[in-house]
Amino acid sequence: MSKHPITIIAIDGGAATGKSSTSCAIAKKLEFLHVDTGAHYRTVTFALNQAGISPKDLDAVTEGLETLNLGTSVKGQQAFLSINGHEPNDSEIRSPHVNGAVAYFAAIPSVRKFLFEYQRGQVKMAQKHGFKGLVMEGRDIGSVIFPDAPFRFYLHADAETRSLRRKKQGQEDAIQQRDAIDTSRKEAPLKCPEGAIVVDTSEHTLEQVIALLLQIIRNPQD
Ligand code: C5P
Repeated sequence: MSKHPITIIAIDGGAATGKSSTSCAIAKKLEFLHVDTGAHYRTVTFALNQAGISPKDLDAVTEGLETLNLGTSVKGQQAFLSINGHEPNDSEIRSPHVNGAVAYFAAIPSVRKFLFEYQRGQVKMAQKHGFKGLVMEGRDIGSVIFPDAPFRFYLHADAETRSLRRKKQGQEDAIQQRDAIDTSRKEAPLKCPEGAIVVDTSEHTLEQVIALLLQIIRNPQD
């Protein structure tokens, strides 16, 4: 029996492995709350950047974090992070600048500590809004945030497929560089959580990946 009051599905993987589209679709199908923790790191990066803080200045980062008050708004199936009452939009948190800086901020232990309780607290947020489950995507969900989640997936895709996906989305994003920083950092590195189910999304369509995950979630004894 899981110790969590609702069902938790952890979906981890590198950039452009199909995590967001898959997580979003799974949450919709199961009527669970969807939380994108990559957006949390992007929002914090945006806020610190607006305050003129560089990830190289660790003291300024720690001081800057103390000025940030986190809030959540739930819209439909999705939860969004706001900082000091402002919920940045997609063009703010997915800008080339944030793409380039986010992995450096995410490697800083004080930044990860700052988001840890907030992310664990999304279980209560889901319950409060009447959801029976939570789909959380990121890099360390199955390894650090919810290592005891009943369903933990790790999505993987080859380099060519991933850069093609980003190009189709029209985004300028050095995904390999970001992955290199994410996998090599000391704190909560991107890795396949022990015991997680690995899915290579380059070999399947998005629909196939969604169907595979749903089948596993709905028939856990198979
Ligand atoms: O998922 P997305 O590509 O938007 O994530 C942006 C960045 O946020 C990642 O490259 C990583 O540096 C950081 N991240 C993280 N831990 C998570 C989710 C994202 O370090 N759980």
